[in-house]
Amino acid sequence: MKVNIQSLEDDLVEYDAELDNSFIDHEIKRFYDHPIKMHVVLDKFGKDYRVDIEIDTLATYTCDRCLAEFTNHFKAQQRQLFHVGYQEIADNEDIILLPESATEIDLSPYLMEMVLLNHPIKMICNEDCKGLCAKCGANLNIEPCHCSGDTIDPRWEELRKFIK
Ligand SMILES: [Zn+2]
Ligand SMILES: [Zn+2]
Repeated sequence: MKVNIQSLEDDLVEYDAELDNSFIDHEIKRFYDHPIKMHVVLDKFGKDYRVDIEIDTLATYTCDRCLAEFTNHFKAQQRQLFHVGYQEIADNEDIILLPESATEIDLSPYLMEMVLLNHPIKMICNEDCKGLCAKCGANLNIEPCHCSGDTIDPRWEELRKFIK
């Protein structure tokens, strides 16, 4: 996703685009398999560019507890500052310096960063998800299984024979 800055006046410009996940060069790419809506507001002032990026999509995650697939809304926003030319403003790590000859700004690395930074560490289909039974593997959201808490240790079962 590149924005042409060659003939831009000092002004506010907005862009809307629908992207696929090809800009995500990372294993988490597979979770973002729906069209990704992008909204960009670019504010140019001389050699400075303030770019506000928003992305919005549906992600397909796998629940950590019950292993079911579920879709979730994914939204992220980020502001990125650019300056054309190598200047004394250095030292400010937040501003990306572009060469004097730059004709476009490639947003792909920032888009990928946004997905990485906002990607959930835990994927839970529902706060109340009961997960899988550790014994029989049944999905407890669908049906309770028969190996509930009151199972008796087989060794006690043996002992019981003697107590009559
Ligand atoms: Zn679940
Ligand atoms: Zn069970």
